[in-house]
Amino acid sequence: MTTSRNSRCSHCGTFYFYHPSGWSGPYNHPEYCPDCQETVKKALEKVPVRIYKKWVPTDDYTREQLQAHLDNRSNNGANAVMRRIMPGLYDLKKKVWQESLCEMMPDPKEPHRSFWYLCQWFPGEEDKAKVKKQVWWDKKENKMSKEQWDRDPGPLYPMRVVPMVMGGALSKYNTTSEGA
Ligand SMILES: [Zn+2]
Repeated sequence: MTTSRNSRCSHCGTFYFYHPSGWSGPYNHPEYCPDCQETVKKALEKVPVRIYKKWVPTDDYTREQLQAHLDNRSNNGANAVMRRIMPGLYDLKKKVWQESLCEMMPDPKEPHRSFWYLCQWFPGEEDKAKVKKQVWWDKKENKMSKEQWDRDPGPLYPMRVVPMVMGGALSKYNTTSEGA
C-alpha cells in the first residue's frame, strides 16, 4: 500500500501525486513534479560530488561500548527500541548473516557532536569486530571534511547578552561569558 498526496510543483505549478512513503519511480520528490525533478536530477549528475558520507575506522568506541549504549537505551523496559538497521553481509559458506550494531553516540573529543557508529561481525568473530564512524569525507583532500555538521550551528550563543534582556532568569546558563 502506498500513500500519496496531491502537491503543486514549486517550479512549473502543475499538480502531481507525491508518494511520501512509497516508491513511485525515480523522480518522486516532495517539491518538484516528475518532469521537473527529472530535469533537476539530470543536471545535477554533471556536478561532481565533493563531500560525501563515509564509514571510517575509529577507536572512539569498542563493540562492547556500542552494545552497552544500546542496552542502556533498552533498559527502560521497552522491548521495541528504535534501531538503525544496516544491511549486513551473508557468509555463503557458513550460511550466516553478519550481526550489526549501529548507534548514534557523542564524539568523545567533541561531546556536543554525535555521530553514527557501526560495528558488524560474523557470529563467533566478535573479537575481530571493528567499529566505524560515519563522517563527511572530502573527496579531493581524501580526508575527513572540516565541517562535520549538516547545518552550521553558528557561533556559540552570545549568552552574555541574555542577562540584559531577560534579567537574571537565565543567568545560570551564562556559561560563555567573556574570559571563559
Ligand atoms: Zn514541475
